[in-house]
Amino acid sequence: MKRLTTYIFCLLIFILPTQAFAVQKVPILIYHSIDEFTGHGMKELYATPKNFEKQMLYLRNHGYTLLTFDRWNDIGNVENPIFITFDDGYKNNLHAITIFKKLQNNHFKPTGTFFVISDFIGRPNRLSKSDLKMMADSGLASIQSHTATHPDLTKIDDLQYELKESKEKIQQITGKPVIALAYPYGSFNQKVIDETKKYYMYGITTISELYSKTGKKDELYLLPRIYIKYTTSMNDFAKIVNGE
Ligand SMILES: [Zn+2]
Repeated sequence: MKRLTTYIFCLLIFILPTQAFAVQKVPILIYHSIDEFTGHGMKELYATPKNFEKQMLYLRNHGYTLLTFDRWNDIGNVENPIFITFDDGYKNNLHAITIFKKLQNNHFKPTGTFFVISDFIGRPNRLSKSDLKMMADSGLASIQSHTATHPDLTKIDDLQYELKESKEKIQQITGKPVIALAYPYGSFNQKVIDETKKYYMYGITTISELYSKTGKKDELYLLPRIYIKYTTSMNDFAKIVNGE
């Protein structure tokens, strides 16, 4: 009898934390280039269009809901929420839009957040104003800020130009609210957070973990993200989005 009680007790310890007290964990993924790697820049910051499509198909087949930051409060209301983000506003991000269009159906509405550098808009290898407007109007993309010139925000004085001007410029192009900032190089400090709060509702880092609500101070300005790299296999991808 005593052994049975011990057995049940041990069983409960294993079961309770994973079921009754499970904390919802939300993956926020970070990509840069969606393209073949042809020797420019860092290879690990690329995902090939073929791999990206397989990854999005995995999310479709496993009942994930792709959210953008304007739907942050839906985290608790949808099945398997996940955020797909892209930094730096490369022209090749249009491949992601093409793939989103291809995979969308009545049950799967792909959306991604594209963090663009406002002073770089229209440069040869970056998204143009008309690209951004088209993306924002498609319903497949939320265009948000990655500052004006991509500095390390902890090392500059004129935060207002980087935070406020970039927000306003992007809003003017898309006609939609800019409410989220991705810190360049994932670099921030308390001063950066305090300034970000003046103009944005969310600050996005590269702290490598899944998001779970903790209630700690400034948590919406410390949102973590996980890199999907050139070498990320489908097996790795599945583990990341499942929080393993
Ligand atoms: Zn960047």
